[in-house]
Amino acid sequence: MTTTATNSIAVLDKFRRPLRDLRISVTDRCNFRCTYCMPAEIFGERYEFLQKAELLSFEEITRLTRVFVGLGVVKVRLTGGEPLVRSEIEKLVAMLADLDGVHDLTMTTNAYLLPQKATALRNAGLPRLTVSLDTLDDAIFRKMNGRGFGVGRVLEGIRAAENVGFHPIKVNAVVQRGVNDHTIVELARYFRERGHIMRFIEYMDVGNLNGWRLDEVMSADEIVARIDAEMPLEPAESNYRGEVANRYRFKDGGGEIGVIASVTQPFCGDCTRLRLSPEGALFTCLFGVNGTDLRTPMRAGADDAELANIIRDTWSVRTDRYSEERASMTDELRARRKKVEMYHIGG
Ligand code: SAM
Ligand code: SF4
Ligand code: SF4
Repeated sequence: MTTTATNSIAVLDKFRRPLRDLRISVTDRCNFRCTYCMPAEIFGERYEFLQKAELLSFEEITRLTRVFVGLGVVKVRLTGGEPLVRSEIEKLVAMLADLDGVHDLTMTTNAYLLPQKATALRNAGLPRLTVSLDTLDDAIFRKMNGRGFGVGRVLEGIRAAENVGFHPIKVNAVVQRGVNDHTIVELARYFRERGHIMRFIEYMDVGNLNGWRLDEVMSADEIVARIDAEMPLEPAESNYRGEVANRYRFKDGGGEIGVIASVTQPFCGDCTRLRLSPEGALFTCLFGVNGTDLRTPMRAGADDAELANIIRDTWSVRTDRYSEERASMTDELRARRKKVEMYHIGG
């Protein structure tokens, strides 16, 4: 164990990776049905999402976050599902923003509800925002989000966020070969001109439902080459150790992009992320199978020290490195592994 800058006791896993980042999925529900995450044919009218009583309350999430901070967490990301469909999410933002020791609080959203929510989020003390938008091509976007929503609404959400002071905004796009790969230069140009930071994500085999195929992955190298051919790029240094995105600057000055090469250049060696599911289970990997239940002991009266022990015990035996192992796995082996779904624990 080592002592961190905030005087919390850092806990190390089996590969000596400290616990630094917490991703909190606040709901398993979403107003989109992105084909690579929650395919509409599976998540239809009859799909049973978690009931309210099963979700951690804001007080429970805040209490747990305080315990995580005591174990070394400094960065917190709210995600989902779609975090903005959780009612009064700004109250949770305000509670987390008030916690000592959280140096970086942010949220990933599909932006559909940002026109209504941007002001409340800002007033609650949210410093940063990541928005997901896979393409500016309306027809392609309508298909990719599975609900027929147009790009205009997302851009409206981004403008609402800009107007209340979120700037720069990180904009995530999942790149799927044969689906939206031919639109990435346009995305890079559009958000560069507005001073935001595009981050292109290699399409991942999260969960078991999206029918992932390796030939649909466009590698980070290819993504960079395509953009570089139109707007020359040069590598930029990481902002901090363990940053998931490889950064590139536009050579003619002004602006940068990031690429998240989770498939072709895995970064498990520096992975310091822990995920908390909406019903209070801990996942030590995006491709985890079983979570560790924190809700039951918490609701049975466990005190903070007991909860910290459960978290410490979970993290200290962690050996996850799925993305590094993927290359040597057969398709059958991958298919047999019943991984948690992305919409459940967030990206
Ligand atoms: N609903 C919010 C959103 O879409 O921004 C937050 C949750 S979403 C699961 C978080 C991020 O995961 C999004 O940027 C999304 O594009 C990304 N994502 C989902 N499925 C993915 C996949 N199969 N491969 C790569 N990224 C994925
Ligand atoms: Fe919803 Fe985000 Fe998944 Fe799309 S990626 S279905 S917006 S949770
Ligand atoms: Fe971390 Fe698991 Fe992703 Fe590797 S595969 S970077 S261990 S979440």
